[in-house]
Amino acid sequence: MAEKVLVIGAGMAGLWTALALAPSGREVILLERDAGPPPGGADAAFADWTRRGVGQLRHSHAFLARLRNLIRDQHPALLADLLAEGCRELPFEDGLTSVHKRTYRPAPIDRDLVILTSRRTTLELVIRRYVERLPNVSLRGRPS
Ligand SMILES: Cc1cc2nc3c(=O)[nH]c(=O)nc-3n(C[C@H](O)[C@H](O)[C@H](O)COP(=O)(O)OP(=O)(O)OC[C@H]3O[C@@H](n4cnc5c(N)ncnc54)[C@H](O)[C@@H]3O)c2cc1C
Repeated sequence: MAEKVLVIGAGMAGLWTALALAPSGREVILLERDAGPPPGGADAAFADWTRRGVGQLRHSHAFLARLRNLIRDQHPALLADLLAEGCRELPFEDGLTSVHKRTYRPAPIDRDLVILTSRRTTLELVIRRYVERLPNVSLRGRPS
């Protein structure tokens, strides 16, 4: 029988715990106090999702390159979902000032220095829906 893991809270830490443990075959149950997202896409989530449990729901957020690469390498379908819902990738070069650009010589590793950014509601909505589709993960809480 698969080991069962109970995760309290389906914020970023909870969702990432499920993503990390799902490939191990464990049964992962996420318990979330807040209601789920409203029906619809990223704009509906930004306008109407009420989350009393998190502090910065409508701020923009960013995943630094290491996490973005982890998503790209271990959950490529999730990266595709995030980009399809409007998340943006910011390559290293785009962050250089005009002064730095004058002397910048691209190195191969720079291609991996990409930040993934969006509204937090979008990141959570897309990751949550992806996690809910994983066969051995279930998310329990109040309905939308
Ligand atoms: C202004 C600001 C900007 C930030 N920008 C970034 C950024 O750009 N990039 C970045 O990586 N980080 C950023 N952070 C930090 C980031 O938001 C937090 O580190 C992250 O949200 C923590 O995730 P968490 O899952 O631990 O907690 P939370 O996101 O707080 O999630 C906790 C979850 O647990 C639920 N919960 C609580 N109690 C219970 C209970 N008893 N039963 C069931 N569920 C419960 C809550 O409803 C919530 O869903 C920022 C923080 C701030 C304040």
